[in-house]
Amino acid sequence: MPSAAPTEATDVSAPLPPFEIITRPCTHYDDRPDPADISLLVIHNISLPPATFNTPYIDDFFGGRLDCSAHPYFARLAGVRVSAHCVIYRDGRIWQYVPFAKRAWHAGLSLFAGRDKCNDFSIGIELEGADDVPYTEAQYQALATLSRQLLQQYPALRPQRIVGHCDIAPGRKTDPGPLFDWPYYFRLLGVAATATDPRAGEPV
Ligand SMILES: [Zn+2]
Repeated sequence: MPSAAPTEATDVSAPLPPFEIITRPCTHYDDRPDPADISLLVIHNISLPPATFNTPYIDDFFGGRLDCSAHPYFARLAGVRVSAHCVIYRDGRIWQYVPFAKRAWHAGLSLFAGRDKCNDFSIGIELEGADDVPYTEAQYQALATLSRQLLQQYPALRPQRIVGHCDIAPGRKTDPGPLFDWPYYFRLLGVAATATDPRAGEPV
């Protein structure tokens, strides 16, 4: 039942371990309609080519310089301009492409709690990965630390407003996929474990 969802995240405000965010060049973003409205966190996965890791191609793609002749799969990406605020690579590295105050282009056609255009009010984080491959421990640690920073920085972002791309674009998107360990991630966030999926917990 909804009331079983976590209502407090006691450790979210605890000091963060040291971590580094490296800024990368990207022009795939614009202004948010309301810069003060940052109230949703969307978790994705991406790998280029699919299920191939530790390539330079995500960085090239978000940076607008992907050589679409480098792999047959890339032909479909010609002219596509997308981004996310951050990518967390397999080794836990966090590279930031879009300032959080700006609107990244990650969600596409999307709906959360009756509200569409999720890019307007969300932060998008990509995990380098694929739906059918487990994520690395370094990625969980980095994601949790980054998430805790964002929860501290943006009060409207609550654990109940952290979702997968699959949750806001059902039928169209499947990421971060069934192997993303939501209970483990929420434990790392310091959110009390419950029998209820925290994402399903809170009406808006
Ligand atoms: Zn996605």
